[in-house]
Amino acid sequence: VDFEHCGLPETLNCNLRAAGYEVPTPIQMQMIPVGLLGRDVLASADTGSGKTAAFLLPVIMRALPEDTCPSALVLTPTRELAIQIERQAKELMKGLPRMRTALLVGGLPLPPQLHRLRQQVKVVIATPGRLLDMVKQSSVQLRGVRIAVVDEADTMLKMGFQQQVLDVLGAVPHGCQTVLASATVPAGIEELAGRLLRDPVRISA
Ligand code: AMP
Repeated sequence: VDFEHCGLPETLNCNLRAAGYEVPTPIQMQMIPVGLLGRDVLASADTGSGKTAAFLLPVIMRALPEDTCPSALVLTPTRELAIQIERQAKELMKGLPRMRTALLVGGLPLPPQLHRLRQQVKVVIATPGRLLDMVKQSSVQLRGVRIAVVDEADTMLKMGFQQQVLDVLGAVPHGCQTVLASATVPAGIEELAGRLLRDPVRISA
């Protein structure tokens, strides 16, 4: 089994090969087709499982060159994780027309992030606090978001970000595809999933 079976465009297959991804990991095998179909997903997946590419491929496929405001949102608990996700996104998006990312994270100066948003960004990768501030100041537009990912949801809860995550996702259109990834699925994650996901496909590595 390889990525060719996922029905991805040739540019993406090329980028996967260039990144050294020959064979999909178990989580990728399960998550990519379901994500491409537009279903909500609850994925129990730890770091090292390949979950990042598993949610990034549907994120990339949802963005259209003609979109004028962000079509995808990835929420993650820390700046370091956001930076890693953006790096992987850029690697996978190489050669795709007009696929810009913006990193909206706390602990880094705001003006460059605001500037970046004026450049027809397709994928926003953010931490909840900074993004929520920007939503409240109307400096980011989420009404075009078609897919939202909450990465490391269990860490989000541990860091006390539950309300911020709910508030951010309250600002994306009703019916937006939502993917929740979490290393573990304790009661708190089940509850969050119940509030955010519609008829989710459950996946575990
Ligand atoms: P993640 O679980 O998303 O944090 O990914 C763990 C690491 O595995 C990252 O360094 C990825 O670049 C790498 N990786 C993800 N998918 C694959 C794959 N299908 N083949 C080889 N490496 C991969």
